[in-house]
Amino acid sequence: MKNFTYFRPTSPEQAVGLLEARWGNTELLAGGTDLLDLQKEYIAQPSRIVSLAGVAQLNNVSIGDRAITLGAGMTIAAVAAHASVRQHAAALAQAAAEVGAPQIRNMGTLGGNLCQRNRCWYFRDEHTNCLLKGGPRCNALDGENKYHAVFTAGHRCVIVHPSTLAPALIALGASADVQAPNGRRTVELAKFFRAPTGPAEREHTLAANELVLSVTIPIAGTRSASYEVRHKQAYDWPLVQAAVAFQGGQNGAKATGVRIVLGHVAPTPYIAEAAQRALDNRAITEASATAAGRAAAEGAKPLSQNGYKLRLIEVAVKRALLLASGAKPYWEV
Ligand SMILES: Cc1cc2nc3c(=O)[nH]c(=O)nc-3n(C[C@H](O)[C@H](O)[C@H](O)COP(=O)(O)OP(=O)(O)OC[C@H]3O[C@@H](n4cnc5c(N)ncnc54)[C@H](O)[C@@H]3O)c2cc1C
Repeated sequence: MKNFTYFRPTSPEQAVGLLEARWGNTELLAGGTDLLDLQKEYIAQPSRIVSLAGVAQLNNVSIGDRAITLGAGMTIAAVAAHASVRQHAAALAQAAAEVGAPQIRNMGTLGGNLCQRNRCWYFRDEHTNCLLKGGPRCNALDGENKYHAVFTAGHRCVIVHPSTLAPALIALGASADVQAPNGRRTVELAKFFRAPTGPAEREHTLAANELVLSVTIPIAGTRSASYEVRHKQAYDWPLVQAAVAFQGGQNGAKATGVRIVLGHVAPTPYIAEAAQRALDNRAITEASATAAGRAAAEGAKPLSQNGYKLRLIEVAVKRALLLASGAKPYWEV
C-alpha cells in the first residue's frame, strides 16, 4: 500500500475542508471495508486519507413523526437492527441484514455503502486498464461478463452498482444530506447515482470535496421489502435484487404509489418503470406480481454470459412484492 498522511477532523466542515476538488489524491475513510481493499490492490493510491471516525455528528439518528434520519456513520449492522427502520422501512432493514457478513456489517457504514466502488473484476485488477481507469474500452463488453449489467443500452461501461442498501432507499423515497464546501444540500437518492465513464467520475454524483452527512427516509405508512437472489449467503453480493415499496396492498387491497427498484442489473440502481405502471392501483396477487416481474425485465439487453439474470429479475420482483404485501413466503419450506 502506498504511504499516506492521515487526518482526523472532528466536524463535517473540517472534513470537507481537507478534501480536494479532484478525485484520487485525497480519500474519505469510514469503516474502510472497501477503501482499504482498493488501496491494497493499488486501485486507489491516495496520498492523503481523511478519517470520519472523529466526526461524531455522523452517528446521529433522529426519529420524527414524518421521517427517520440516519447518520452516514451508522454501521450497516445498526441500520439492520434499528427498531424504527424495521417498523417503517422494512426493505432497508432486510437489505442491511443481508450485506456481506457480520464483520462487514459491523465495520461498514451507511455512507460508505452508498459511495463504495463497483466490484467489476476488470476494474479491481491492478493489471487491467479498463475504461474507468483511463483505458480505451470496457473489457467486460466482450469479456467475462456473467455478473455484469443486463440493462446495457447507452452504457460504455457495464458494471453493476454494488450497493444493496441503495435500491431499498430509492424505493422508500429517501434522500441524502450532503456537506459541500459552501454549505449543505439535499439530493434524492433516486438522483444520487450515475454510470461512470472514466477515471474522473465515480458511481455517484458527489463532487470530490463533498460528503454524505445523513440519509432521510419518509414515514408514510409504506409497506416495503427487498428480495435478493444470491449464489452464496455470505461474503458475496447478490446476482439480482428487487426492492419494492407501496401504500395499501394488504389482504387484497389495491397498492398505490408502487416503486420497484432493481439492484445488480445496471450501472446504477434501476427503477423498473414498466413494472411500476403494471401494478399501480391494482391488488397484489400472485398473478399481478408475476406480471410485474415480467414487465421489470422488459428492455434488458443482456451480454454474452448473463441472460440468466432476466429470469432472476422476474422471480425477485414477484417475491419482493408478495413479501411486502404480507403474503407467506411459499418458496421457504
Ligand atoms: C466480502 C464482501 C461482501 C459484501 N457484500 C455486500 C452486499 O451484499 N451488499 C452491499 O451493499 N455491500 C456489500 N459489501 C460492501 C460493503 O457494504 C462496503 O464495503 C461498505 O458498505 C463500505 O462502507 P465503509 O464504511 O467500510 O466504507 P469505506 O471503505 O471507508 O469507504 C468506501 C468509499 O466510500 C467513501 N465514503 C465513505 N463514507 C463516506 C461519506 N460519508 N460521504 C462520502 N463518501 C464516503 C470513501 O471515500 C470510499 O470511497 C461487501 C463487501 C465485502 C468485502
